[in-house]
Parts: sequence; C-alpha cells; structure tokens
Amino acid sequence: MISVEEAQKIILENTKPSSPKRIPLMDSLGLILAEDVYANTDLPPFTSSAMDGFAIRSTDTKIASSSSPLSLKLIEDLPAGTIPKKVLIPGTCTRIMTGALLPKGADAVVMAEETEVEGREVRMRRPVAFAENIRLQGEDVKKGKLVLSKGTVVTPQAIGLLAALGFDRVCAFPKARVAILSTGDELIPISRRLSRGKIRDSNSYTLEALLKKENAEVIRLGIAKDSLDSLRGKIKKGLRSDLFLVAGGVSVGTHDLVKTIFREMGVKELFWKVRIKPGKPIFFGKKGGTLVFGLPGNPASSFVSFEIFVRLVLRKKMGESNPLSPFQKAVLTQDLSHQEGRVDFIRAIAEKDNGALEVRSSGVQGSHCLSSLARCNALIRLDEGVSRVPKGKEVEVLFL
Ligand code: AMP
Ligand code: MG
Repeated sequence: MISVEEAQKIILENTKPSSPKRIPLMDSLGLILAEDVYANTDLPPFTSSAMDGFAIRSTDTKIASSSSPLSLKLIEDLPAGTIPKKVLIPGTCTRIMTGALLPKGADAVVMAEETEVEGREVRMRRPVAFAENIRLQGEDVKKGKLVLSKGTVVTPQAIGLLAALGFDRVCAFPKARVAILSTGDELIPISRRLSRGKIRDSNSYTLEALLKKENAEVIRLGIAKDSLDSLRGKIKKGLRSDLFLVAGGVSVGTHDLVKTIFREMGVKELFWKVRIKPGKPIFFGKKGGTLVFGLPGNPASSFVSFEIFVRLVLRKKMGESNPLSPFQKAVLTQDLSHQEGRVDFIRAIAEKDNGALEVRSSGVQGSHCLSSLARCNALIRLDEGVSRVPKGKEVEVLFL
C-alpha cells in the first residue's frame, strides 16, 4: 500500500494540463487564462467628462470669484456618445454629460451644481483647475499594457475589463469533462421511496457538487448494478470523458467488480489502495487520455478521496500551477485518537476564537456517516505515526 504523498505524486505525474482553447467570454468565468492579455486600446478610449456640467478652458476661469462671477457663452450641447462639432475659444463653454467626449480647446469641466445658467450664458463663482472633473484617455489602461496575466482566474470583475477591451473570447484552459457513475445493487435514485435493504445514491450528488465548484463539466451516468453487464455498458461510456469517477465496487467484496471491468477494458492500474482513512481502497488508472478513479463507496470515503486526490487532477488539467491544497495550523479543543499506519482525515469544525484558529471533530466519524460530513468545514490531518493527539495540541487542517 502506498502513502498519501506517493499517491498524489503518481496522480500529478499522470495528469497533463488540457490544451488551451478560445472560449466565449461568458463561458470563461472561473477558468484560468492560458495567455497574457494585453490592452488593444486605451481605457478610457478618449478624454471625457467625469461629471454632468460644462466643459471650459481652465485659464478663462482664473478670474472667477463669488464677488465677480465669470460668465461664459454656451455654444453646444454634448450628451454622452456624441462628437463635438465646435472648438472652445476663449470665453465659451459647452454643456457636457458624464462620459461625453471633451471638445477641442476644453481642459476641464465645472459641475452643473456650481453654475447658474441663464439662456446661453453660464456663470461660475470660482476658478476651475486644469484637468478638474476630467477622465484622461488611457489613465486607467494604456494600449499595449499587460492587463491580466496567464494563470489568472477569470472572475466577474476581470470579465468587465475584458468586455471593455472588446474580448468576446479568451484563451483559457477548458472545463474538464468528468463522468460520474454510482455502483451498487443497494442504490436507488434519490426521488424513490426507501425500501428495505436499499439506500439512496448520495455520492453522485456530493461528487457532482464538488465538481461544479471546481468548474468542471459533469456527465451523470446514473447507477450501475453490481453485475458485469450493467457495469460494462456504463463504464464504456465513462471512458470517453477526460476524467471518470466510479463510486463504489472497488474494495475486495465478491461484488466489487469495477476493477475487473477496468482491466477488461484496458484501463491501466496506476495504484490501488492508499494508507489513508477514510478511503483506503481507492483505485487510480488511465486509458488513453482518460484518467479513472475508483472511489470507495462510503460517503465520507468518496468525499475525502475527492478532496485529497481527485481535486489535483481537475486543478492541474484546468491550468492551475499549484494544485496541492495548503494546510493550516489549528489548536485542537478535544482529545483525538486514531489507528496508526494510515493518515487519518477527520471531519471537523474549525473556528477563530480570539484570533486563534481552533478545531474539533464535527461528529461521528464512521465512513458511512453523513451528518458529520454535512456539518464540517475542515478536515484534520493526523499523520501515520500518530496514535493519540491531546487537547491543546496544534494539528494540520485543510479548509473545505
Ligand atoms: P462499496 O465501496 O461498493 O463496497 O460500498 C461501501 C459502502 O458505501 C456501502 O455501504 C455502500 O452501500 C455505500 N455506498 C456505495 N455507493 C454509494 C452511493 N452512491 N451513495 C451512498 N452510499 C454508497
Ligand atoms: Mg458496492
């Protein structure tokens, strides 16, 4: 049996980043840019007014004061989106709206609130400084400048900048296509009433949710029975995806047939069984461009397997340069014990108390238990050589 670290190494060695694609802007949300993005234009693209008011020549206004207001002649109206026809000569001004192109000759804008207008005459009672209330062309972004670098996640904020620059597509690492299959004669769809001996298929939902949070594209293959024929058909379909997650049927029970079919269909085994709890019987393999996980069927096992192993594949495929999740230190607020020889991941609740991070178990830890899973916001990692960790000790925590 290999260690968690050895398994992670094998996974990363066998995962290649997907080829970047030109992706429609709105489909790129959450994806990672595969190229640096340079501005193809200045932003703002032209010098414009930052206020509703009057475009003026600042030198004209030097003499304005409350005792002797300056009066300028209004020569044009400029709503946003229009092009000025007139040039400002000394003694004139132009009515201008926020975002409208500044007319030639003007070098500042006086706010409407600071003026008195009578017919074609505009009065102001103070000097206006050069460039006051003006947005200069290129003051935000200069044409040719790097605006977003390769490796950046496309956020809603970044999408706004890309849109302003006219990028309707961006070069990014595409979503991984991930197929999920649940296996087991005891499983029924979640909308069915429970009958004796049956349980609902919860894993495929947890997995789908985890995948969606990682921005993967999910293909649900439903539930396969523990029979060679049922598994064959569905596994054949799953092997057409980038990543195939089969939950259940990889242990050593007589009905655990998944590995038999993998072998039959030419899936090369890269590892089977890891010194981890929960999730020991995890299988990892590949066939052509498809990576395959056989995840242990217990809900906590498949969840932890996803967090510690499957996520690495998604992150690396989708262009993340550092796919391993960082752990943090937290102080244990209860005694914990565990079986030596396997790394234990305990479902936990981590909270800040007076600035210090504290952590405790989130409840019953059986790998079939869903309640502690639903409540947890972290996993505590207890190393292979440790059997008992007393209250007050620092432990490693992975935030979920
Ligand atoms: P297996 O890995 O197939 O031996 O299953 C281990 C345990 O996980 C059994 O108790 C199964 O009933 C349970 N299990 C398997 N698949 C699922 C699933 N999709 N949802 C919930 N529990 C499951
Ligand atoms: Mg089973």
